[in-house]
Amino acid sequence: MQLILNYINGEYCKPIDDKWLDNYNPAEGKIYSKIANSGAEDIEKAYKAAADAFPSWSETSLDERSRILQKIADIIEANLDQLAEAESLDNGKPLSLAKSVDIPRAASNFSFFAKAITQFSSEAHESIGLQSMNFTLRQPIGVVGCISPWNLPLYLFTWKIAPAIAAGNTVVAKPSEITPYTAYLLGEICTEAGLPKGVLNIVNGLGQTAGEAITKHPKIKAITFTGGTKTGEHIAKIAAPMFKKLSLELGGKNPNLIFADCNYDKMLETTVKSSFANQGQICLCGSRIFVEASIYEQFKKDFIEKVSQLKIGHPMNSETKIGALVSKSHLEKVESYVEIAKTENQNILFGGKRVDVENFSEGYYFQPTIIEVKSNDCRINQEEIFGPIVSIMPFETETEALNMANDTKYGLSSTLWTSDMNRVMRMSKKLECGIVWVNTWLNRDLRTPFGGTKQSGVGREGGLEALRFFTEPKNICITYE
Ligand code: NDP
Repeated sequence: MQLILNYINGEYCKPIDDKWLDNYNPAEGKIYSKIANSGAEDIEKAYKAAADAFPSWSETSLDERSRILQKIADIIEANLDQLAEAESLDNGKPLSLAKSVDIPRAASNFSFFAKAITQFSSEAHESIGLQSMNFTLRQPIGVVGCISPWNLPLYLFTWKIAPAIAAGNTVVAKPSEITPYTAYLLGEICTEAGLPKGVLNIVNGLGQTAGEAITKHPKIKAITFTGGTKTGEHIAKIAAPMFKKLSLELGGKNPNLIFADCNYDKMLETTVKSSFANQGQICLCGSRIFVEASIYEQFKKDFIEKVSQLKIGHPMNSETKIGALVSKSHLEKVESYVEIAKTENQNILFGGKRVDVENFSEGYYFQPTIIEVKSNDCRINQEEIFGPIVSIMPFETETEALNMANDTKYGLSSTLWTSDMNRVMRMSKKLECGIVWVNTWLNRDLRTPFGGTKQSGVGREGGLEALRFFTEPKNICITYE
């Protein structure tokens, strides 16, 4: 059976205690590999390797760091098929999605930061009258911790690692225990690209043990975490007394606001994607759909029809649009929300049931589900489900739509569908979130700041923001006569 080992100091190794976890293939509900179940001692080993590598890596020229990052990107691209298959096997997402989005984006993360680091600059302030010149020196932090979730495994893992090492830090990283396979393969790729030993150390295991040991490690000076809001809160509590630098990318309950004056066909097609891409397991999915009352009935009919055409099936099948959910426990969580909707007397318009895919009856398949809700304060609209369930409800006025959009503890992204640019500006300013998409969705330019407000997180990643996070600014003040 495939063993998912740790990658420490440039070498694959077993966990010190020789303990292992089962790894399931969600499409078939079967164990297909064993994952290193690492603990605090493994994290210490990884930390030591990272600390030893830091002095040399932080002094390595920008050109050389950039060259190695680009090489990693090139090798990921060259192994697109193998990596996409691994991602689909491990996560349950359609192979076509892994091939077109996840793996290309992992390569772009490295090639983007390979270039960005050569363009990173800092400010200078001349204090006229004081005869002095200030400039800001941006230095790498040291050993940093990167913890990532299961929904976009290699995509989000590399989104953290690439800027961290580009900026001259060394890393102890933990992928989600549910989807560690592509992170494991990345180790080999880094070795092939010539990344010096110890610059990237990948430790597998449970969040409560391996993840917690990273957060608690007194010498790991910064943590970048993407995952659930509750886990983020827990990490923040541990990190705060040690004054660690923290970047938290957390949950969402994103509104999709549809006005009658939008480009209807484009909106409809995109809304199907923003609802159910990756089985609805993207933090940016629009899970609360608000539709202007004058087009509500038409939208309801057309949306149900389009969603009913989505093919649910084995992720490796090229026609599959909806693959398997990531785990049995997640399937049960998603399903429980259908029961919650029933107790709240909401109207289940479509879906709501598990799917028995032929020959794979043990797989974790669930229908794309549309629930018509009566108001925004119900649990279906307030709690993050993170699966293939969306709610729809009508609104009468722009103010009502805005109030409902903002009436949530989350603030990650919003999508606006309208052709009225005055409305776009009015609403964009007032929406409480980190990203507003106008007549589009998941349209990402890696130079832009990425992150959420309220309980969707703290800080921004992406572009130069990420390089700022992974460096410590120091003011140097020089006087002259
Ligand atoms: P979790 O919070 O459960 O886990 C995220 C990562 O943290 C995993 O690697 C997990 O390990 C680890 N972890 C768990 N407990 C601890 C701990 N005590 N200390 C340190 N690390 C820990 O999230 P999910 O993996 O379930 O991911 C889904 C969530 O991620 C959703 O809420 C989603 O909205 C959010 N997300 C946010 C994004 C954003 O950019 N804002 C993007 C994508 C997802 P293990 O898996 O082994 O438990």
